[in-house]
Formats: sequence, structure tokens, C-alpha cells
Amino acid sequence: MDAPHSAAQITPRARNKFPLPFPRLESLRSRILAFAVAAALLPAGTMLGVFYTQNRRALEKKIDEDLLSSSAQSARATGVWLRERLYDLRVFAGSDEVVITLEHGAGKTPGTPTEGRLRDYLVSLHERFSDFERLMVLDLDGNVIATSAGEVTKVPLPADWQASLKSDNQIVGDAYWDPKSGRAKLIVAVPAQRADGRLLGAFAAELNLAPVQMLLRSFAPDSTGAVHLVNLRGAAIASSDRMSDEMIKNPIPPPTMKKLKERARAPFAFTSFGGRDVIGTLEYVPQVNWLVISEISGEAAFQQVSRFRDVALLVIAFLLAVVTLAAYRLGRLISRPLDRLTKAAGEVAAGDLAVDLPAAPGGGEIGYLTEVFNHMVYRLREGRLELDRINETLLKKNEELELLSTTDSLTGLSNHRSLMKRLDDEVARFKKGKHFFSVLVGDVDHFKQYNDAFGHPAGDEVLQMIAEIMRDSTRKVDCCARYGGEEFVIVLPDTAIADALDTAEHIRARVAAKKFNGRKITLSIGVASFPEDADDAEAIIAIADEALYQAKREGRDRTVRARRLKKTG
Ligand code: GH3
Ligand code: MG
Ligand code: MG
Repeated sequence: MDAPHSAAQITPRARNKFPLPFPRLESLRSRILAFAVAAALLPAGTMLGVFYTQNRRALEKKIDEDLLSSSAQSARATGVWLRERLYDLRVFAGSDEVVITLEHGAGKTPGTPTEGRLRDYLVSLHERFSDFERLMVLDLDGNVIATSAGEVTKVPLPADWQASLKSDNQIVGDAYWDPKSGRAKLIVAVPAQRADGRLLGAFAAELNLAPVQMLLRSFAPDSTGAVHLVNLRGAAIASSDRMSDEMIKNPIPPPTMKKLKERARAPFAFTSFGGRDVIGTLEYVPQVNWLVISEISGEAAFQQVSRFRDVALLVIAFLLAVVTLAAYRLGRLISRPLDRLTKAAGEVAAGDLAVDLPAAPGGGEIGYLTEVFNHMVYRLREGRLELDRINETLLKKNEELELLSTTDSLTGLSNHRSLMKRLDDEVARFKKGKHFFSVLVGDVDHFKQYNDAFGHPAGDEVLQMIAEIMRDSTRKVDCCARYGGEEFVIVLPDTAIADALDTAEHIRARVAAKKFNGRKITLSIGVASFPEDADDAEAIIAIADEALYQAKREGRDRTVRARRLKKTG
């Protein structure tokens, strides 16, 4: 920031150039703003960052736990359900109706009473156990001996069903899509054997997978999640979602399945059925080649975190807005009166003392500063008024002195010095513009006698009255002077000899007509004209004086015109 404000930095030239452009206090305001924003954002941002990280971790942990518990519970429950169904089937397969019918080759002679009884038995089981869609008894060749359904349809058994039945003591088929019912179905079978263990055939059932779907739904991690029951190849058997033919035909790709199996019971991000990006865990269903996959939508998994992040950002934005506004207002509160003060100081420096600042809002230090400033300007104003008064007095005194130096104290006429200056001026004026002028020189006749008769003060009064008559008989431009003692000189600019003689006569007559202490006082006057009678100031006085003495000689109380002395040889 450039601060040309300390006195040391103001050069004499700059000082003369007031008012200086004063800097607006933008920098102060922006500094307050920057500080406030940093002070608010730093802790808030750090805190929210820590909260966000912790929240994310906690959420990840919770998702892991949810997925694990969902998959584990689903696997356990599904396993139990399947084992129960297989157990039911084993109980059914051991019944006399089944064993006897198979042993006696009822299948070979369809329509025998035994076979009819078996069918009734199957129908009654079907009615009582809703988890079975269809119950069937098969002979060793795979022929359906009896079924609970109305018609006999081919049973989709695996090719090596007899071997599996012997080795595993059960068959759990793959799910297949039944377009008629629009549902996935599954065939399971258990061996039907004699008491001595000889295999007679199989007791098979088409399973209703709706209860499994219900189970899976109850263990789904959340509303966005799903639980799928799949076989080892990744084809769906049942799902908490709506099952479809697609989920059987398009299994989860083998590489994904491989990875899922490798990371069993640990969360893993993959693409699930329908191309959904999910995070899921895999769990084995005990004692059967089934797997359970619990999954949750990847987007939804972190929705809560992103919601938290959004709220955090919103809080920060709000905080920023509030802090910015508050700091801006604070900055203005400080900088506005300072701006005013700076401007006013500039005006005072430029000589304007009429400045009077309004009180700063809220008082405080700035309010005090404003008050002090106003007081300072008030004092300066007072000082200037005092100076003006002193100046005025000095001027008056000067004028008085000037007057004293040019005026005769007794008569108030111009004094000798002033007269001589006026004469010089008139001579100069003539040289410039041919302005001629005339001069009267007068002397009181027999004044000594009057003084002797009435005293000196009375003589002074006479002189004052004569002066008054002279002033009264001349123009403003004329100059009446007391030349010395009781001798007077009058300068008449732009006046020719004839008019000068008239003026002289007029004055003489007025004085002669007046009585002073009952006595007549007369004047003798000599009159001369410039440049007719003389060439300079002293010469014209001299020649007028000459005429005056001629008047004295000729009997006094008269006016005599001067004549230029003829230069001789
Ligand atoms: P003249 O007719 O020849 O002029 O006779 P005068 O008596 O006037 O003679 P002069 O002019 O020589 O005399 C000057 C006298 O004027 C002397 C003095 O008594 C008187 N006088 C000069 N100055 C003053 C003054 O200031 N006040 C008074 N009262 N008298 C003055
Ligand atoms: Mg005299
Ligand atoms: Mg005289």
C-alpha cells in the first residue's frame, strides 16, 4: 500500500498542491474482509472436513457390517429353509404309499389301485405343504409314476441324477423360468428306497420359491439394496428383487463371480444384475452349492455422505455469506468516517476551515477522533478570525500613519512633503499626456500683528478657517496644502491660468469678507501656470512665490499673475 501520508513524505511541492488526492480506504476494508473470512472459514472448514472424514468412515463401516450381516443371515435362513424342505421330502419318500408302489412296479401297470392311492397321497401333501408346487414320484428310469398335478409333464432333472442321488442322497436342480406362471422354479429330489437301502426311485418336488424371496427381502440391507440367491455359476435362483428370466439366462460374469468368491464376506464393488453398480458381499449357503450376494447401490451407499458433504458446503457458504456481510459492514463502519476525516483533513489543508463533520455513528474511538478533529478545526477557525481582526487593525493604523505623514495636523490640508510629491506627479502627468496645471501660493497679510494682538492660539484658529475656505472653494482633484507657517499652496490640475486666477480671487474675497475677532484678515496670492511659467516643480513654486511678493509689494490683499522670467544672456 502506498501511504503518502506521513509529514516526512510530503515534499514542499506536494504540500503546495493541496488538496492531494486522498486514498480511499479500500485496502483497510479488504483487509478486514480477508481476515474475517479466513478466521471464519479456517476452523469451520477444518471441523467440517474432520466430521466429513469421520462420517464417511463410520458409514463405510456400517455398510460393511450391514452387508455382512445381511448376507450371513440370508445364507443361514435359506440353508435352513432348504434343509427343512429336503427333510419334508425324505419323510414323504419314506411313506408306505411311495415305497410299496415303487416296489411293486406300479408304474408299469398304470391305473392300478395302488398307483391311485399314491396320487391321492401326493395331492393331500400338496394341499398341506404350500412350499411345494408339485410333488412327483419317479421310477429309476425317470418316469413319473405319480404326480400331485393334473397332468404329467417332463421333469427337468440333471443328466446324472441317479448318480447324484446315490452320492449326495439328494438332488438340488438349477432354477428355470416357467413362462406360464411367470415365476422361477426349482426341482429338488430325494431317493425313495426300501428299508434295506435299495434304491427304488426318487421323490421329487417342484419348489415354490416365493418363501425364499420373502426371506431374502426381510434380510435386504436397505431399501436400495438387494439379496440374490445364486448358484455357483452366478445364475439367479431367487432374489429379494423381482425375479426375471434374464437373471437366469444372464448370470453374473465368471470373472466377477471369481473375485466375489475370493473376497467372500468382504465388501466388493461390482456390476450386478441389470448392470447396476453395487457394493456387495458374498456368503456360502451351508451344505448346498448355493451362494448369497447382499448388495447395496454404490450411489445410494454414499448418498448419506454426499448429503452430509452438501450440507457442509451449504453451511460453509452460509457462513461465508454472513461473515462477508458482517465484515463488509464493519469495514464500512470504520472506513466511512475515516474517509470523511481524510477528505476533511485535505480540505482543511487546502485552507477551507468551514468543515464540520457529523458525529460518527456508534461513537467509540472514531467518534472521539471526529470530535477532536472538529474541535481542532474550530480552534483553527478562531485563530484565523483573530488574525483577520489583527490585520484589520494594522491596516487602519497604517492608513492613519499614512494620513499623518501626508497631512498637516493643524489644518488637515496636505503637508509640505505631500505637496511636493503631488507637484512631481503633475509634472510627470504633463510629460505623459500634456495635462497642464496651475499653482496658487498665498500668504496671510500682517499675521504677526494678529498673533500679537490675540495670541498664538487665536492665530491658529484663523489658519484653520482659511484652510476651510480653501477646501470649500476648490474641487476634489485639487490639492490644498499648508506650505509652512501661514503660507498656503493650491495645485489645480487641468486648470488654465484664467480659471486659476478666478479661484484665487474667489478665495481671497471670501477671506477678506470674513471677520476674525472683529478684524479683517487678507491674503496675498501669486498664481502661475505649468508649463507656461516654469519647467519643473520647484521652479513653478518659486515663480508663484515671486508673484506673491509682488502682491505684497503692491499693497497686499490681491492676486498677482506670475510672468516667466526672460532668460538673459
Ligand atoms: P507680511 O504681510 O509681510 O507677510 O507680514 P507678516 O506679519 O505676516 O510677516 P511674515 O509673513 O514674515 O510673518 C510671519 C508671522 O506669522 C510670524 C508668526 O508670528 C506668524 N506665524 C507663523 N506661523 C504661525 C503659526 O503657526 N501660528 C500662528 N498663530 N502664527 C504664525
Ligand atoms: Mg509669511
Ligand atoms: Mg504674512
